[in-house]
Amino acid sequence: MHLKRIELRGFKSFPEKTEIVFNKGITAVVGPNGSGKSNISDAVRWVLGEQSMKSLRGDKVEDVIFAGSDKKKAMNYCEAALTIDNSDGEIDLEFTEITVKRRAYRSGESEFFINGKQCRMKDIKELFLDTGVGKDSYSIIEQGKIDDILNTTGSSRRKVFDEACGISKYRYRKLEAEKN
Ligand code: ATP
Ligand code: MG
Repeated sequence: MHLKRIELRGFKSFPEKTEIVFNKGITAVVGPNGSGKSNISDAVRWVLGEQSMKSLRGDKVEDVIFAGSDKKKAMNYCEAALTIDNSDGEIDLEFTEITVKRRAYRSGESEFFINGKQCRMKDIKELFLDTGVGKDSYSIIEQGKIDDILNTTGSSRRKVFDEACGISKYRYRKLEAEKN
């Protein structure tokens, strides 16, 4: 399983439709300060269900929507989509390619899609349980995260290991079952 493509439209500093393709191997995103590199990783976490505006480096929900510039007016909505190669079947869906998408409006409302079909945010979260992908998972290591993992308490460090060895799914299901 690997990330093949990110498509952005109206997300933060990307008003135009922007496609970022990840070929096999290492991809580095380079550019001057403020050119939007971190906005790309924000988009990944946002699609995976990030709700914390602080973690997305904003204040209000609409801060993920292009706010306008001298040349371009602000957008009313934004969307970001991640396309994942699932030819190894790691994700439990019978598709070799899976696109998860999130769209948001200035009202604060968000819509989620899996391969074009509208779904709940929960469905996207569940899709990636134990795959190492997820808004808080170890596939995204931001500045300071290594320090956090080393300095944190035993129980939150354990979450990282639970995810890596594939048992967070069972913990999640147990909690969900206890809710009912
Ligand atoms: P650095 O090298 O300093 O880490 P970077 O390439 O990671 O920089 P980002 O933090 O991704 O840069 O991008 C910041 C830019 O995104 C700023 O210029 C900011 O104005 C712009 N930006 C953020 N949110 C929006 C928005 N809603 N609308 C328009 N522009 C935005
Ligand atoms: Mg940055």
